[in-house]
Amino acid sequence: MRFRSTSPEGTEQLGQRIGRCLVPGDIVCLYGDLGTGKTTLVRGIASAFGIPSRDITSASFTVIAEYPVDPLFYHIDLYRVTNSDDLDSTGIWDLLGGNAISVIEWAEHLGEPAGQGRAVIRIWLSDCGGDAREIIMEGIREEAWNNL
Ligand code: ADP
Ligand code: MG
Repeated sequence: MRFRSTSPEGTEQLGQRIGRCLVPGDIVCLYGDLGTGKTTLVRGIASAFGIPSRDITSASFTVIAEYPVDPLFYHIDLYRVTNSDDLDSTGIWDLLGGNAISVIEWAEHLGEPAGQGRAVIRIWLSDCGGDAREIIMEGIREEAWNNL
């Protein structure tokens, strides 16, 4: 599925709709350069679980932020995690095997496919100039999506 967003609010709304289609154990992998709107999209996804937008930050020093909602929600930012030893020491593999919802920025740094046996939703964001963003998504449950 392919979308065009023309404002941060539009990207957040799309994120909220994505969030409503997720079930425990789902992994959302986000790909795209700095400033394409990954964190903005995460704000929308998180809002579907009752997490206030202001709680989702783009402080890339926090690799894994855990939100105590039900199911547990993890916002993971791998921007600074560029080798597999660093990645392993984050403990990410345990999280991805559990029943939480995990949303991963810079998922290209994962190096190997996330979550065996888990549903993985992949989303690519790109900047089309100004406030325009192209957002391409695969793996979302189409039935849930179409019923929203
Ligand atoms: P990333 O996490 O990919 O680095 P952020 O979500 O932190 O990106 O930042 C995106 C920046 O682009 C913000 O400053 C936001 O206001 C701006 N922006 C402008 N238009 C859009 C849009 N359509 N969608 C998302 N962000 C947008
Ligand atoms: Mg970000």
